[in-house]
Amino acid sequence: MAVERTLVLIKPDGVQRHLVGEILARIERKGFHLLGLRMMMMTEDIAAKHYSEHIDKEFYRPLVDFMTSGPLVAAVIEGDDAVAEWRTMMGPTNPANAPAGTIRGDFATNTRANVTHGSDSVQAARREIAIFFPELAH
Ligand code: UDP
Ligand code: MG
Repeated sequence: MAVERTLVLIKPDGVQRHLVGEILARIERKGFHLLGLRMMMMTEDIAAKHYSEHIDKEFYRPLVDFMTSGPLVAAVIEGDDAVAEWRTMMGPTNPANAPAGTIRGDFATNTRANVTHGSDSVQAARREIAIFFPELAH
């Protein structure tokens, strides 16, 4: 077990649907430390950096259109196995596969508008945190 940091995004659908408090409450109840928190717009530029691994995918354009469509909430959380634990709390990418009790299982039906983002490895977390919170990258 290692203390890790990971990047959380509450995507524009989550903000628009007033799920920010619910999601931050789950993070806090779980016991993670909130190190950084901010509401912002994802620009085309930030999207290209954050989703660079998906640039050649067929869903990249609609994904970026969605992610830049309204404000999102970005956070850095820290705790034991934070990267994998937050992915477990979110559930799988496609909400149809997400068990009840996970964020995507409870709040999403759409593979694109799936409410939250979480880094998928410690290395990805380091890279993504540097984009949104350079002061918290380590
Ligand atoms: N996405 C999409 N269509 C797909 C797969 C993914 O629109 O067929 C979007 C969805 O919002 C997802 C994001 O692209 O969360 C990044 O995809 P990834 O496979 O990295 O899923 P995640 O790590 O977010 O679970
Ligand atoms: Mg991913």
